[in-house]
Amino acid sequence: MGVPVERRRFDTLILGAGGAGLRAALQLARAEARVAVVSKVFPTRSHTVAAQGGVNASLANVTADNWHWHMYDTVKGSDYLGDQDAIEYMCRAAPKIVYELEHFGVPFSRLDSGRIYQRPFGGMTQNFGGEQAARTCAAADRTGHAILHTLYQQNIRARTHFFDEYFAVDLVRDEEGFILGALVMAIESGEPLLIEAKTTLIATGGCGQLFRTNTNAHINTGDGMAMALRAGIPLQDMEFFQFHPTGIAGKGMLITEGARGEGGYLVNGEGERFMERYAPHAKDLASRDVVSRAIATEIREGRGCGPKKDHVLLKVDHLGAEVVNKRLPGIRDLCRTFLHIEPAETPIPVFPTAHYVMGGIPTDRFGRVVTPARHGPEEGVPGLYAAGECACVSVHGANRLGGNSLLDILVFGRAAANHIIGFLAEHRYHRPLPGDALDRPLERLARWDQKGEGETVAQLRADLQKVMETHCGVFRTEEVMREGIGRLKTIRARLADVRLRDFSRAFNTARVEALELENLVDISMATMMAAGARQESRGAHSRIDYPKRDDGNWLKHSLYFLDGDVLDYKPVRTKPITVESFPPKERVY
Ligand SMILES: Cc1cc2nc3c(=O)[nH]c(=O)nc-3n(C[C@H](O)[C@H](O)[C@H](O)COP(=O)(O)OP(=O)(O)OC[C@H]3O[C@@H](n4cnc5c(N)ncnc54)[C@H](O)[C@@H]3O)c2cc1C
Repeated sequence: MGVPVERRRFDTLILGAGGAGLRAALQLARAEARVAVVSKVFPTRSHTVAAQGGVNASLANVTADNWHWHMYDTVKGSDYLGDQDAIEYMCRAAPKIVYELEHFGVPFSRLDSGRIYQRPFGGMTQNFGGEQAARTCAAADRTGHAILHTLYQQNIRARTHFFDEYFAVDLVRDEEGFILGALVMAIESGEPLLIEAKTTLIATGGCGQLFRTNTNAHINTGDGMAMALRAGIPLQDMEFFQFHPTGIAGKGMLITEGARGEGGYLVNGEGERFMERYAPHAKDLASRDVVSRAIATEIREGRGCGPKKDHVLLKVDHLGAEVVNKRLPGIRDLCRTFLHIEPAETPIPVFPTAHYVMGGIPTDRFGRVVTPARHGPEEGVPGLYAAGECACVSVHGANRLGGNSLLDILVFGRAAANHIIGFLAEHRYHRPLPGDALDRPLERLARWDQKGEGETVAQLRADLQKVMETHCGVFRTEEVMREGIGRLKTIRARLADVRLRDFSRAFNTARVEALELENLVDISMATMMAAGARQESRGAHSRIDYPKRDDGNWLKHSLYFLDGDVLDYKPVRTKPITVESFPPKERVY
């Protein structure tokens, strides 16, 4: 295409200014690399800001603890699908990562001794499955807010270059497969901009907007994952989507697991503390998949609360106003705003809500994007890295433990940056850009430049979310998912003549919404196809027709390729770095 496009050049381009992107940027900027961070919203509005409960590290400030116990809990929590080398690396790095944050200026809550406050969270134990551990480091119930603002300020100080309110459209690559940067669009003007870079890190966060009721920000549309798919890179383990047990019923806003960590518990319509039946030992602090399934089962069997018996209640009223005000002020505010209740007096209506994607862009523990077994042995995509919720290292396997995602984004954001620093030392010059490198990204942008005649973007997005909720929710069956895949195919076809909002009022945000919808469609297909194929129940993936875990056939990662909608599989890395591996066992809490 002959259109002249403005260009900028950097050593590293980071797509996304959440915790993963900012932690990586800081490491690079401090090493004197020229770093550009692109974000479609102002950086401190990234979803990391909404993280409530905290970040896990075995500091042992409240209970005895060490990284090996943390590793065991994470492997078990993952239902043995997590890669144990990456899990070992993460759990060992955790205390250092948290102390670094403390020194950057994160205002953690404090114990009377002055040490960092730690609260109990689900699936956390001492001594390989013994007593509950308090491992989650918290700044009240606004931990993500504290971390993101601190990292942003440190980046300003380190002179990271920010492109705020720029939308990343697609990766740019050469014939040899090197990633050379990305085409982005300035949302205000609609102008395309090419950012050339020797290394590119995708840190665009999750895709909770796949589902109608979710805890995520409106912007969590999985853009980076879809960019990877379009560049021929598969997505890994997309069938594993976490439903958080305690979203506000019917609305979706998250009530942190910290509420149960502080002593809150769930009751059904008969006033029974039902988690005692499902997880006699850990009770309300069992792993999230276990608690979500228990709630869904109580409701399905007619023991829900309220006139429609369609939710259960989370009680924190017995904790007293002082604990609620000090440890859960954000939850108090959410309840006041969205439910007009005081949680210190009235129980909170809750329901399992789409929350977190365990799958994503396949990487190794250095953040390098690795591609598939399909074309022979796994190999890295030169110049391309991914970290954060969009990536799949995989430390969460089939189910993530609360407090492990903030840890994941910081540990692997930092690890990716360290690897990039090495790569930059060996690759000192920008590679030449092929003449046609921008054709496809520009074409994609141009496609959403017209109004179209069909239904609106908003209608189609709502339909997509409904299909995902109905056909790929907490409990799944072959038949329901097969029908769901059919519906997604129709939605994909309908996308072609979708109508943009009126340009004269909506500016380029209408184009952004269309581009996001296109991304969501591809990711929903990845999710439903992978879920339909996996004939077992493991972690967050619960099949009514295959209720048991099947290690013989399914202890493997799935890979979905956009081209031809095909699936492939690769082995789980069960070997840790220095310790013995934890072999699969029955998972009870
Ligand atoms: C309500 C809530 C509470 C949570 N609480 C906890 C908790 O207590 N503990 C825990 O461990 N985890 C928690 N999580 C999970 C955790 O917060 C997230 O997984 C994590 O913050 C994701 O960080 P990230 O850096 O990968 O992405 P994000 O913080 O989501 O950032 C993504 C970035 O990418 C940018 N971006 C995306 N697409 C584009 C595009 N096309 N162009 C340009 N920029 C783009 C966005 O602007 C943003 O800057 C919570 C999640 C939610 C939703």
